[in-house]
Amino acid sequence: MFVFKFGGASINNIERIKNTADIIKERADRKLLVVVSAMGKTTNALEKIAEAYYENRKEDALSLFEQVKNNHLGVVKMLLVHNWKPAEDQLKDFFTEIEWMLHDKPVRSYDYYYDQIVCCGELFSTCIVAHYLAEQKVKIKWLDVRDIFRTDNNFRDAGVDFTFTEDKINENVKSLFNEFDVVMTQGFIGATDENESTTLGREGSDYSAAIFTNILHAENLTIWKDVPAVMNADPNKFSEAVNMPLLNYTEVIEMAYYGAQVIHPKTIKPLQNKNIPLLVKSFLDTELPGTIINADKTVNLPPIIVLKSQQVLIHFRSKDFSFMEGKALGQLHKIFNAVKLQPNLTQNTAISFVCCFDGHAEKTGQIAADASLLFDVDVERDLSLLTIRHYDDATISKLTEGRNVILEQRTPETMQAVIRN
Ligand code: ASP
Ligand code: MG
Repeated sequence: MFVFKFGGASINNIERIKNTADIIKERADRKLLVVVSAMGKTTNALEKIAEAYYENRKEDALSLFEQVKNNHLGVVKMLLVHNWKPAEDQLKDFFTEIEWMLHDKPVRSYDYYYDQIVCCGELFSTCIVAHYLAEQKVKIKWLDVRDIFRTDNNFRDAGVDFTFTEDKINENVKSLFNEFDVVMTQGFIGATDENESTTLGREGSDYSAAIFTNILHAENLTIWKDVPAVMNADPNKFSEAVNMPLLNYTEVIEMAYYGAQVIHPKTIKPLQNKNIPLLVKSFLDTELPGTIINADKTVNLPPIIVLKSQQVLIHFRSKDFSFMEGKALGQLHKIFNAVKLQPNLTQNTAISFVCCFDGHAEKTGQIAADASLLFDVDVERDLSLLTIRHYDDATISKLTEGRNVILEQRTPETMQAVIRN
């Protein structure tokens, strides 16, 4: 058995949906669990609806939802020949649920409503793709993953209840493969024990697919993307970026942690724990070898470059010359945890502590405000954080020469620099 994950770009128009369906169909005899993201930019569109609704702009919310509905109904019309009616009926049931909610006034937290609305993107997309594959005579079963993935009620960043989820997969998913070749379901979403929908954090489908892979003990997980392989830098920012055919788990988890937008950072652990390889392949050219990620030691890696923009540097200084150690650092970490924002880089001196954060205006503002009750605080915005793994002098000078580096750190493997733009 194998697990496939397709991102939103793989189904953002009719031609691509057909291409994705072909990839699945040609490999269906291997028994596939397939996770498909929301179509194209649907998740972003749903986020806008959640915002409008929560700001009591009901008419805006409803008209934005109308657009999302029409996009999906349009795809059903263009794509499906025999199954358009059951597909449309299934979509309309989902639509009704959301519309009911949009007509009521919000009384709970924003994050709760966000999850009830945003979870729909993957329900719509998988419904359509599964009906299309059924039309293509693939023996396919569609599942609502909210019946399987149990989470806590930490909306927008829900934690998975592994024991419950494992039991459900063992009881309800494994046996489906006796009858079906493909089981299609959603990533990124789950439900609480009170049947409230939850989401696992943006781009979370990779993580869901990895959990399925672990529990099903699949032979591997393939993440199908619109790039030829995992590259050593973002090709949109660095024209010399190259493919990396082999990587190990450690490298990928570090890259993702430093902000490389390859794979959701939580994806590696479930795979590493059972030593299951991860393949990254191009859905645009399936002949390309892609990247294999496993436990093997990799040698001769090129410098791996991650450039994160919109960073904020916050300096915390003790007000009375007390050392910045245990107690003070504990107080600061409590403040960071309260807004759920962790520093990307930190540096200590005797009486100061400097942290570089993602430029979340609201969260960094809150951190600065809370910390200023205890420390002197300085904030500098609009910076970049450059990370180079397996650096060499040539790469460092090429990327930093003539630039205003205001903080730098090196370990034998990794160099990081905060740069003023
Ligand atoms: N559709 C969700 C997002 O765009 C989850 C995912 O694609 O992984 O964040
Ligand atoms: Mg994605």
